[in-house]
Amino acid sequence: MLIVMKAQATTQQIQAVCDHIEQLGFRPHPLPGAQRTAIGITGNQGEVDRGNLESLPGVAEVIRVSKAYKLASRDVKEEDTVIEFPGHGVPADRSSSAGCQSGATIGGRQLAVIAGPCSIESREQAFAIAASVAASGAQFFRGGAFKPRTSPYAFQGLGLDALKIMAAIREEFGLRIVTEALDTESLELVAEWADVIQIGARNMQNFSLLKQAGRLRKPVLVKRGLSATLEEFLMAAEYVMSEGNYQVILCERGVRTFADHARNTLDLSIVPAIQRASHLPIVVDPSHGTGRRDSVLPMARAAVAAGAAGVMVEVHNHPETALSDGPQSLYPEQFAEMMKELEQIAPIVGRTLSHA
Ligand code: PEP
Ligand code: MN
Repeated sequence: MLIVMKAQATTQQIQAVCDHIEQLGFRPHPLPGAQRTAIGITGNQGEVDRGNLESLPGVAEVIRVSKAYKLASRDVKEEDTVIEFPGHGVPADRSSSAGCQSGATIGGRQLAVIAGPCSIESREQAFAIAASVAASGAQFFRGGAFKPRTSPYAFQGLGLDALKIMAAIREEFGLRIVTEALDTESLELVAEWADVIQIGARNMQNFSLLKQAGRLRKPVLVKRGLSATLEEFLMAAEYVMSEGNYQVILCERGVRTFADHARNTLDLSIVPAIQRASHLPIVVDPSHGTGRRDSVLPMARAAVAAGAAGVMVEVHNHPETALSDGPQSLYPEQFAEMMKELEQIAPIVGRTLSHA
């Protein structure tokens, strides 16, 4: 159920409607839009009696949202969600944006570029890569601290040490940090240090992790599960949003198919499909999507051309000795080339990017 407020509805009227929904035993989700505020209702098993709601002051109409996902749906919010990362932040905690002079966004006109190694392996490795991706114009640095590995004997990540290295990178280069929370145990720690919490493909349906991430007030990047449909993907976002965290970024990273020329099949057709169905930003990861260094640039170009809000790519200064995902990691020079090319493609689809 969705309550559409009148354009001229006051803050008090919006609050009164939210209070009323709470009294009914449901949860209100006020979602301000450019023209008007919409209030999503969750927590109801069946129909909510609309009679009373329609007569509350400031209410324009009450609509039934028929899709399984509600808060993630475009029916609830017409305009694109833009996740904002303000510059010159006041250091409130360890994940302060003190080192970030300028603001950044995901989902706005500016193309968001998230780059860095699969795993943080050492301070030297991470700093060298951060220096090069920052110089090429990336606004976000990625790096795994807790790694979801197929083998329990493979490198599992440096944990807290990696989070500290990335916090130092934010201070030094002004890059925002994107890193994965592997489980409910590591989530709080990651949230303390990171700017964006990544939920990995294998965890896309880890509902307790999604709910816990929903209780945070920090952007969450949800990667598409290996065999997830569009609806399942959006339901993962819905889990986060249903707990009151509306800062969700979706990430297409390839799905499993019969094709064996690539690690995964990068499903770029989901970009316009998501944009029709949802107001949430979607970025594309051509590194995991292809698994091959020589395919990353072509598919990054295609992702931007398809209208993605940004790209997430793995970059390594010595991919041949990388502890994870070396074969799909770009050399820093290749990343610089990618940025130049994306800068040219972006304006065609109404976005901007300036490579440094
Ligand atoms: C990653 O981003 O390093 C990663 C493990 O991604 P995914 O969850 O998409 O496999
Ligand atoms: Mn990886």
